[in-house]
Amino acid sequence: MADDSVFSAQTARGLVHGIRREKYTAREITEKILAHIQNTNPDINAFITVDEAGALEAADAVDQKVAAGQALGPLVGVPIALKDVLCTKGLRTTCASKILDNFVPPYDATVVTRLRQADAIILGKLNMDEFAMGSSSENSHFGAVKNPRDQTRVTGGSSGGSAAAVAAGQALMTLGSDTGGSVRLPASFCGVVGLKPTYGRVSRYGLIAYASSLDQIGPFARTVEDTATLLGVIAGHDPRDSTSAHVPVPDYLLACQRGVDGLTIGLPTEFFGAGLQSDVRDAVMQGIEVLEKNGASIREVSLPTAGHPAFAIAAYYIIATAEASSNLSRYDGVKYGFRDEAESLIDMYVQTRSKGFGAEVKRRIMLGTYALSAGYYDAYYRKAQQVRTLIRRDFDRAFESCDLLASPVSPTPAFKLGEKLDDPLQMYLSDIYTVSVNLAGIPGISVPCGTSTEGLPIGLQLLGNAFAEETILSAAAVVERELAS
Ligand code: GLN
Repeated sequence: MADDSVFSAQTARGLVHGIRREKYTAREITEKILAHIQNTNPDINAFITVDEAGALEAADAVDQKVAAGQALGPLVGVPIALKDVLCTKGLRTTCASKILDNFVPPYDATVVTRLRQADAIILGKLNMDEFAMGSSSENSHFGAVKNPRDQTRVTGGSSGGSAAAVAAGQALMTLGSDTGGSVRLPASFCGVVGLKPTYGRVSRYGLIAYASSLDQIGPFARTVEDTATLLGVIAGHDPRDSTSAHVPVPDYLLACQRGVDGLTIGLPTEFFGAGLQSDVRDAVMQGIEVLEKNGASIREVSLPTAGHPAFAIAAYYIIATAEASSNLSRYDGVKYGFRDEAESLIDMYVQTRSKGFGAEVKRRIMLGTYALSAGYYDAYYRKAQQVRTLIRRDFDRAFESCDLLASPVSPTPAFKLGEKLDDPLQMYLSDIYTVSVNLAGIPGISVPCGTSTEGLPIGLQLLGNAFAEETILSAAAVVERELAS
């Protein structure tokens, strides 16, 4: 599929170069990519909404700027698509849910404003698990996303459309969101690069909330450099998000050149234990050997709480569902979105929510409400918060002696469509190596490091201390240089 792409050999960096030199126009590129989406989307189902008119209008505006010799943004003419969890002014934003099926936001998310200011071309909105709840992108009101590398398999979730669109050449870059692995897992399953920034690095204003203390918006691209460029555009303080950090944005592109000489990279023992498929382990070890060969020293570290499923998965699924149960209470059929008319107000609430939300979302609202209820708060929610503190300390300790940690993203490569749909616990376990990263608030990347025995992509996860995205990018660039297929 990727080979059919009009952009199979193209990076955003190359494209920007060509547009600046007037080798081609933004309109030509946009028309080509829109046609490619038309041809491929019926198979992949990565897009929920394609905004042809908006994209062409933006392309024409860019071409006029080029022709007039005006200053151009860093993403000039680059076709970008957005997970449908990001508000776009005047463009339907569904969160892949029936309950927001008809929601047209009156404002842009801050990241969207920044993309427009950077002269990017926004193509449309991408499919995902409903309200970002899932690990396979099958929980969508608009149908499952299919993996462009093998259409019988899932893309990973919840930002499956964002990874698939890049893998299928339907966009050169995309944005997703990561609450417990939703950027890294689909990046790994689809063979693209995906980065989850430090909590607070990127503004969440206009990101439809799932679990607010865990959610972060993250970039996807084919290359580490493009990922770095996109991160540079979306990162930085935003007065509209009180959790966004006052930390200057470094030159992430420059960081990609730094190499890993002298870095210490820790391998968390618990992330290489039972349950890890052997071909995934082999590919990940190949990535780690590349880092060692390039001057990094490798050592084992222990993450006793963060690496233990009984702690990490349990704490994550209590905290995330508790926050979700509160965040999703706003969808009641009154203010916006889907409404099921009924005789009484209570019936209207109940019917709207029961018909508007899918099964997984309802399961999580119930779990979260239960965990927060008066009689169970101390036993579940408070305990989970205590475990969260221990997880954070695990990482703090590890980063006292390491610059980065390296691990698999997931125990297996992309699984078959339908394989885990009836078994939520099995599905939750796909997140074993990713969720503790969000609980600790630290950044992580998935960079392709090899393939499984069946030829499916496998990602290497690199984790850094808070705001160490530069170190992560420098190591990911080294892995990519030697192992990119
Ligand atoms: N799979 C995890 C969940 O379902 C993570 C999702 C995400 O990061 N949005 O909650």
